[in-house]
Amino acid sequence: MEPKPNPASTRIVILGGGFAGAYCAEEFERYLQKTNCEVFLLDRHNYFIFYPFLIEAGTGGIEPRHAVVPLRPFLKKTHFHTGEIESVDPALQKVFYRIPSTDQMREVDYDHLVIALGSTTRMLNVPGMREWGREIKTLADAIALRDRAIQMLEQAESATDGIRRTASLHFVIVGGNFTGAELAGQLKALLNRASRFYRHLSSLECRVTLVEISDRILSALDPELSAYAAQHLSELGVDVRLRTSVQEVSPDWVRLSTGEQVATSTLICCAGVAPNPVVSKLNLPFESIDGKGYILCNRDLRVRSFANVWAIGDCAVITDAKGKPYPAMAQHALREGRVLARNLARVLAGQPPLPCDIKTRGSIAALGDHRGVARIGRFRVSGVTAWLINRAYYVWALPGWSRRLRIVSDWTLDLLFSRDYVHLGAHTTIPPTGNTRRAA
Ligand SMILES: Cc1cc2nc3c(=O)[nH]c(=O)nc-3n(C[C@H](O)[C@H](O)[C@H](O)COP(=O)(O)OP(=O)(O)OC[C@H]3O[C@@H](n4cnc5c(N)ncnc54)[C@H](O)[C@@H]3O)c2cc1C
Repeated sequence: MEPKPNPASTRIVILGGGFAGAYCAEEFERYLQKTNCEVFLLDRHNYFIFYPFLIEAGTGGIEPRHAVVPLRPFLKKTHFHTGEIESVDPALQKVFYRIPSTDQMREVDYDHLVIALGSTTRMLNVPGMREWGREIKTLADAIALRDRAIQMLEQAESATDGIRRTASLHFVIVGGNFTGAELAGQLKALLNRASRFYRHLSSLECRVTLVEISDRILSALDPELSAYAAQHLSELGVDVRLRTSVQEVSPDWVRLSTGEQVATSTLICCAGVAPNPVVSKLNLPFESIDGKGYILCNRDLRVRSFANVWAIGDCAVITDAKGKPYPAMAQHALREGRVLARNLARVLAGQPPLPCDIKTRGSIAALGDHRGVARIGRFRVSGVTAWLINRAYYVWALPGWSRRLRIVSDWTLDLLFSRDYVHLGAHTTIPPTGNTRRAA
């Protein structure tokens, strides 16, 4: 048990140090003295992923380490511990966690609990998806993706079997929303650039197919921005398949709803988010959890039927004044974290918490080859301008000048020099390909 340094103080325990949890802790640091509190933050990693840069890290535009924010320097007055959260006992007000890579369990008691455990990738429920489908959610996924792309080029360069060569050079991405559309464009741009270094490959042979079940990609944006994005991706060489879904996945082919069986060794699922399974182990009563497994909150961010348990970010359902849930986005998670810090300070000062009223500032997608689409307030922008806005906005949003300079120097070097197309082979999150079967 972690003893309180000052038994009279109030302890706030935050589960998850991603966008929501880390910004909640950072904002609360200014109230620590006034409220006589200590904040204890637990996460399985000692960094949080700055998600807007994860795809670029996975396609070689930036160094993967530069796409994360280390938590210890970010949170100077918070007690940070790495831990795998295992369960919570709300009656005893205790959190149980495991020291990562060990079987040593620890517990910590709380006066207020903040749940900010994020979400997981929604892997479609089709045969073979869980075994062979990939995702891009963690830093390891991003590093493995880049490694995989180069490994596939190497395999294709020396392949004697035509079907294996076709499968190696074909990358299928499922889901045409922000993550899928950005990944398709940036991966195709990477393959186009990398293929120049292979004597027996051409960029035309390196295929990326984006499979989207609805009738347009980026459906959260206006139809004209979706149309621009689809047009740009097609010009880059991405095969955009609308009104199509994946029915079955194998190591070397996928079957589409059109009946086609297409050769591919790499499928990446970007079909949205699912609840973090650990939420089901937190022993929250059924009235606090919706039918899918997300945590239901009141508008002041308190978990329903609790006075001292709060939830923010992707794991929580928080609605605006009209009852519409806020979308699972970093910009919302971050601001929910800050609102919660202020609400905790209010409650500890004996004042009522305020409702969380935030507006979506806009949506931006970087589509590869220096193009993008953006909707900011009433403005719609596409092309190079949108791409520049994307870069400027996210560099500004990154915490700390050293991190901003690292990203800008990565981008500058990327403009001036060729990327390193090396297969490190150090990351094993992607299983090896199985036996090649005949496929179209
Ligand atoms: C590839 C990708 C790109 C994205 N790009 C954008 C974008 O450009 N703009 C945007 O607004 N949104 C973007 N998003 C969405 C955005 O990342 C999320 O909405 C945001 O991260 C949610 O913040 P969060 O704090 O709720 O969750 P997270 O940031 O995921 O943080 C959750 C934290 O909980 C920790 N955790 C989870 N389970 C456990 C456990 N059992 N034990 C210990 N720790 C645990 C995790 O390690 C993590 O640090 C993107 C998402 C992805 C996957």
